[in-house]
Amino acid sequence: MNIRQFLKFGLFAAIGTFTLGIYKKVSAETKNSTEKELSNTTADTIVCTYCQQCEGCPLGIDIPKNFNIYNQYKADNKKENFIAAYESIKAENRADKCINCGVCKPKCPQKLDIPTLLKDVAALYKKLS
Ligand code: SF4
Ligand code: SF4
Repeated sequence: MNIRQFLKFGLFAAIGTFTLGIYKKVSAETKNSTEKELSNTTADTIVCTYCQQCEGCPLGIDIPKNFNIYNQYKADNKKENFIAAYESIKAENRADKCINCGVCKPKCPQKLDIPTLLKDVAALYKKLS
C-alpha cells in the first residue's frame, strides 16, 4: 500500500467510525424515548379489566365506567370527549361521589386502590372542565 492508498484507507475508516458513532447515539436516544413513552402510558392508565366484580357500591358509583372514560382520555387525549363522557354518567354514579368507605377494594382481582383512583378521575374532570 502506497502513501496515497494508505491515506485513502484512513479517510474511509474515519468516516465509517464517525457514521457508526452517530447511528449508535440516535438508536440509543430513540430506544430511551420509546421506553419512556411506554412506561408513562402504563403508569397513567388504570389497569381495570372492567370485570364488574366491584359492583355493589353503597352509593351506586359506577367504578368501571369511570375508569373506562379515564383510560380513554389517556389513550386519545380528547378533553371534550372525556368531559362529555363524565357528564353522561348520572351525577350520583360519578367518581367525585366516592366517600372512601373501602367496601369495593377487597373485591377487585386487580387489587386496585379504587377510592384513590376514583379521586384521580374526579380530579381530572375538575382540571379539564
Ligand atoms: S370506596 Fe367509594 S366506590 Fe368504593 S364502595 Fe365506597 S363509596 Fe363506593
Ligand atoms: S373489580 Fe377491579 S378490575 Fe374489575 S371492574 Fe372493578 S375496578 Fe375494574
